[in-house]
Amino acid sequence: MNDRTQIDEIKNKLDIVNIVTPYVPVLKRSGRNYFGLCPFHKEKTPSFSVNPELGLFKCFGCGEGGDVIKFIEKIEGIDFAKALEIAGAKAGVKIVHHTSPQQQKEVQIKQEILRANSLSLEYFNYILLKHPLGQIGRDYAHKRKLTKEIVKNFSIGLAPAGYENLKSFLLKKGFKEKDLVAWGLLVEKNGKIYDKFRKRLMFPVIDHQGDVVGFSGRSIETEEKGPKYLNSPETAVYKKSKTLYGLFQAKDSIRKA
Ligand code: ZN
Repeated sequence: MNDRTQIDEIKNKLDIVNIVTPYVPVLKRSGRNYFGLCPFHKEKTPSFSVNPELGLFKCFGCGEGGDVIKFIEKIEGIDFAKALEIAGAKAGVKIVHHTSPQQQKEVQIKQEILRANSLSLEYFNYILLKHPLGQIGRDYAHKRKLTKEIVKNFSIGLAPAGYENLKSFLLKKGFKEKDLVAWGLLVEKNGKIYDKFRKRLMFPVIDHQGDVVGFSGRSIETEEKGPKYLNSPETAVYKKSKTLYGLFQAKDSIRKA
């Protein structure tokens, strides 16, 4: 059974009129359709119709329309997957998730990237707060009036000077060099692989789910070498148009501080 037939089975088992009724106080039959006051917009005369044969609803006032799953999605303000789950439960159909080996592999890679990022975050944070290598970062933070509280709240860290700090830490955790290059934690230049972020204050980029999807490293050199901010590249977990909240939040409070 594929996902499509699963969805059809759910739709066939559910009576859209039953699903809609609790949200539409008076639903009156007129010919093949039922009419009532639209739950999606304010109105005084009914322009919301339900067709049980086709399993569809349509509002001629606001234009909202679709099948029973769409109705649940809209009325509950949830996404399709969640609506399908609710519809499945009501219909007594258990949703079986089919993922291809390819999809499973993608999920696995994403988890690996997130694990590497989260370990790097811990590493940078530890260096800034406790390690002797972090002294330059602590001096910088002090000069910039970054309190311990800000450092903690925004999980700010320090990428120390040197080329193989994060690299040896992550290799010990079992990651492969070429993966770490692809994920933007290391760089490869002239046949050498080394830490991408060096002598930089590290700000994690956190997505809406709270995952560390990348980093922005601010140079703490007194003489500027390279860009002021160095950012992670896009990866399977980091799409720049989609993320940035935590980073901007951090930058903003740091600017204010
Ligand atoms: Zn409407």
